[in-house]
Amino acid sequence: MKILAVNAGSSSLKFQLLEMPSEEVITSGLVERIGYYNAVFTIKVNGEKVSVTQEILDHKVAVQLVVDGLIKHHIIDSLEDITGVGHRVVQGGEIFKDSVVITDKVIDQIKSLNDLAPLHNPANITGIDAFRKALPKVIQVGVFDTTFHQTMKEDAYLYATPYEWYQKYGVRKYGFHGTSHQYVSERAAILLKNPKAKIIVCHLGNGASLCAVDSGKSVDTSMGLTPLEGIPMGTRSGNVDPSILMLISDKEDKTYAQVLDDLNKKSGYLGVSGISNDSRDIIREMQNGDHRATLAHQIQIKRIADYIGSYYVYMGGLDAIVFTAGIGENESLVRSHILNAVKVLGIEVDPEENSKRGERLITTPQSKIKAFIIPTNEEVMIAREVIRLEKN
Ligand code: AMP
Repeated sequence: MKILAVNAGSSSLKFQLLEMPSEEVITSGLVERIGYYNAVFTIKVNGEKVSVTQEILDHKVAVQLVVDGLIKHHIIDSLEDITGVGHRVVQGGEIFKDSVVITDKVIDQIKSLNDLAPLHNPANITGIDAFRKALPKVIQVGVFDTTFHQTMKEDAYLYATPYEWYQKYGVRKYGFHGTSHQYVSERAAILLKNPKAKIIVCHLGNGASLCAVDSGKSVDTSMGLTPLEGIPMGTRSGNVDPSILMLISDKEDKTYAQVLDDLNKKSGYLGVSGISNDSRDIIREMQNGDHRATLAHQIQIKRIADYIGSYYVYMGGLDAIVFTAGIGENESLVRSHILNAVKVLGIEVDPEENSKRGERLITTPQSKIKAFIIPTNEEVMIAREVIRLEKN
């Protein structure tokens, strides 16, 4: 059974074709610069990337190109070979407590959440619309970044703001990266041989969030109403005092929207270091003795340790910390500094294992709390959801 996992952005469309249930990746690819004359369509054929640059003015054209490309490159014989399409949708609000088979009503419900994710949900819908037209007979499933966190309790998801803001406008924490947190924590529970395990997942990529998972359920997560809340990231500040908005708006004669944009796009690693949003640059410059690169790293480590301590207390214990995504999977120094920052919990890193890549335990046998690297796989999680709903 072949399932397409799709992630549509405002000007891009990423896809992966998976054989299910074996979860083998048949091909993957990307359409970039949708809306431009020099858009780029890239697809992997026999492991080699094949790219063409051409005019792709909208998602409909991009999707047709993907579908035609699969046939042209003999990856599938006909469209009948595709059993289902799973779409990543960023914001599911309180409506979607599970993945869902896409219908016209579901599209309207996703649209009703556009205020909460103005940059992401409209792009996701554009991708869904285009695939529904290109593959009308095939089941289309929406898989939401927020669904996994719908198990949080009120004390975790409500802000201490006027309650009417929540009632009238849905102002609360939703959390994101849910598919990744779910995939990684399910795998960790298997490795721990304990479905009731208490786990903290550190999804550290360009966007980054932590999630406290107790017995397979998200009980708290660091991102909030939007992905800006939480730990500092590549370009996002993470938590700040909201009064900064007014101060910088006054001092720099900027609108609140512009200051918010600075907090989203010019902060984090990039803002503190003045060098880059990429952890590889930050670590290289830190090792060269650059003070601000060192600060960018140290601030992030401290904030992550703060969250781990707070989740440890909130869950009343901890079995494992799991690292995933670009930084979590690849930066041994970041992992070892985080684990050292929380060593009071009884964590002992195994430096040899921590220096390697791929799924593994990176703590010593004496360590009271285990730590793992578990590579994330959001596409597999999306494909699993399509299969699950297709059977119903
Ligand atoms: P992600 O958002 O999960 O794709 O993670 C991207 C981030 O991971 C990049 O911005 C880098 O900071 C970081 N990273 C560090 N080492 C690597 C690596 N070897 N490959 C990819 N990303 C890396």
